[in-house]
Amino acid sequence: MGRVLVIGAGGVSTVAVKKMAMNADVFTDIMLASRTLSKCDQIAADINNIKVQTAQVDADNVEELVALFNKFKPDLVVNLALPYQDLHIMDACLEYGVSYEDTANYEPLEKAKYEYSWQWAYKDRFEKAGLTAILGCGFDPGVTGVYTAYAAKHHFDEINYLDIVDCNAGDHHKAFATNFNPEINIREITQRGKYFEEGVWKDTDPLSVHKPLNYPNVGPKESYLMYHEELESLTKHFPTIKRARFWMTFGQEYLTHLRVIQDIGMARIDPIDYNGQKIVPIQFLKAVLPNPGDLGKNYTGETSIGCRIRGMKDGKEQTYYVYNNCSHHAAYLETGAQGVSYTTGVPAMIGAKMFMKNIWKKPGVWNVEEFDPDPFMKELNEQGLPWHEQFNVDLEM
Ligand code: NDP
Repeated sequence: MGRVLVIGAGGVSTVAVKKMAMNADVFTDIMLASRTLSKCDQIAADINNIKVQTAQVDADNVEELVALFNKFKPDLVVNLALPYQDLHIMDACLEYGVSYEDTANYEPLEKAKYEYSWQWAYKDRFEKAGLTAILGCGFDPGVTGVYTAYAAKHHFDEINYLDIVDCNAGDHHKAFATNFNPEINIREITQRGKYFEEGVWKDTDPLSVHKPLNYPNVGPKESYLMYHEELESLTKHFPTIKRARFWMTFGQEYLTHLRVIQDIGMARIDPIDYNGQKIVPIQFLKAVLPNPGDLGKNYTGETSIGCRIRGMKDGKEQTYYVYNNCSHHAAYLETGAQGVSYTTGVPAMIGAKMFMKNIWKKPGVWNVEEFDPDPFMKELNEQGLPWHEQFNVDLEM
């Protein structure tokens, strides 16, 4: 049906490419390209039912990307490298003429600040070129946007309160490790918190607002209010939302390590001079921390991510909770990767499948909640991320 080029060969890509190979009727030709060729070859070697081509590419180099696109001639480019590469890859897609998908919004390397304005600014150019760009198609952002669109379509006349709740109740048996790219993860968590209420954004000190929330099959877990990128697009696309917040669970041990990392300057993102060489402390830290893609083997427990929504239906207020629980071990057995890579890589594959089947295809730059959620929700159930619904329950919010 179509030719897909995946860029980046980390934990998320491992899952997405393996799942694409499991859907080889849709992804008839797959190429995996990244900075380190050996990592692409390693993923490709695990796949037997279809040949995955591999290539080396610097995704910050638009000319190199365009040359690779000319060689492989993809129908869709799936960016599973880092948020720093988003704009370069989008530029290359426009220059060559190919559609685009990613799982995280653009963030400049020198400033830990992410927002959609940079990528939304490409809307006219993608539209004029007749190309589709699907932004933020992982779990959060990604499935959380699809869940919200599904709730708005089927269960509410208007959504008023949205709380996205992200719990990782897993144990990787390491003293400290991050579940996805450590640099991106630590930059995200150490930012100031932010949420939307009555038309304005409110700031909080980092991780200062927290409370225990009950997660299905997990129980109570201390949950911390954070800023997360989908809050920006969801409050724009569902203007009846009065309050939108994002919560994530962290264990005490994780938070203590994080505080020490910050206190000793290892979370710094500015270059420092070390023996005459410039190094960025957080990038050095990444090099010594466990690789998130390798955590799967001893990972026990599960993730539980969902949307807790309050709004109006037929003149009456109602509550709704839609969520998925994902076992780290089951994810590992299927793909060799842990649950966080799995819950991101599977939706990335599904978004690409929606595009290949012409279901999510329209010229312009779009967030996932702007497409029809139903076919995506159906695929979630079939591809390993089944969802569950609860109606008129206590949302604890
Ligand atoms: P990893 O660090 O494991 O993988 C990133 C990959 O990108 C690596 O293979 C890396 O190469 C490659 N890469 C980095 N820079 C370049 C470059 N300039 N040119 C080519 N390749 C490059 O990250 P993850 O797999 O954990 O995460 C991938 C993406 O998914 C990130 O953007 C992350 O923010 C996003 N994400 C989204 C989530 C969601 O729910 N929406 C959740 C989790 C992650 P090398 O191997 O050489 O380092």
